[in-house]
Amino acid sequence: MNDIRIIKATEEIDINSYELGEVHRLQILLSDNSMGVPWRIPIVIIRGVEDGPVFGITAAVHGNELNGISTIFKLIEELDPKKVKGTLIMVPISNVPGYLNNQRAFIDGVDLNRIMPGKLGGNTSNIYAHYFTSKIISKFDYLLDLHTASHGRVNSLYIRADLENEETRTLAFLQNPQIIVQKYDESGTLRAWANDQGIPAITVEIGNPNAFQHTLIDETLEGIRNTLRYYNMIEGEVHDMVTDATICDHSYWIYSTKGGIVDVLPKLTDRIKKGQVIAKVYDVFGQVKEVICANKKGIVIGKNVRPNCEAGTRILHLGVDFMAPDPEDIPGHDDYEITEK
Ligand SMILES: [Zn+2]
Repeated sequence: MNDIRIIKATEEIDINSYELGEVHRLQILLSDNSMGVPWRIPIVIIRGVEDGPVFGITAAVHGNELNGISTIFKLIEELDPKKVKGTLIMVPISNVPGYLNNQRAFIDGVDLNRIMPGKLGGNTSNIYAHYFTSKIISKFDYLLDLHTASHGRVNSLYIRADLENEETRTLAFLQNPQIIVQKYDESGTLRAWANDQGIPAITVEIGNPNAFQHTLIDETLEGIRNTLRYYNMIEGEVHDMVTDATICDHSYWIYSTKGGIVDVLPKLTDRIKKGQVIAKVYDVFGQVKEVICANKKGIVIGKNVRPNCEAGTRILHLGVDFMAPDPEDIPGHDDYEITEK
């Protein structure tokens, strides 16, 4: 095991000072907790032997979204720093207190992914977010932010990305996910802030919270390998761009209007017809109180799996308005045949 280097809040991470061809493990000290000591964020830096971009991967910005941790660990295990060009900076656990409490939010109940980049002089979560973005994320040339569904819900492997921007579109296509959604309210997200700073960033949603799902983790890992090949950071041929992805213009949640016991019928990635029954809400005697139907044709991105629901619970996340990618938008497009889905 290598030594773990401590970086104080007042210190900068000077990437160029780290030895080439090595893996470096750091603990970055951020804002103080109530023990009067700083939260420590773990980061792993792989310094390649030749020049190349600084590629950043963050996981567990929501503390109970864990598939990204395993994705990063597997990547560290398989990469030989002597064969890497450029630098990888990976943050396996971004929201440390959320992770310790096994919860999505920061310790003060605030969703870190709604307040980025945070600010000094703000509340607890704002100060943490400020150090997180300014000390770590600002060093990146590219960012993949790895998430999962929230508690009580399950997700497909899907991407949120701006497809009108060439660089983020390329990042999304390289990942070859099940679904890509382009429009979403993203104010305060890490992705939105990074993109504003000129750091092309996409969000990768990998399945379910509180678990390691190795099939989805391995698919994400293959997408990351493909991305690193594309930027010449590792050897190998780029392939399978958007071959299996359904691209949606936007997506939205369908809610229940009545409370009770909810059974959501379709499976993840199922195609839904307009008017199709997607859920039934039962009373506690087994009688159907509400039948919920899709108001549009779409694809199931995520769904509720917690049956005991109040009125107004998110039931099903529907991706709508499918788009076929323009072959011209795919680097090396001559090799690809696009079929409208
Ligand atoms: Zn998340």
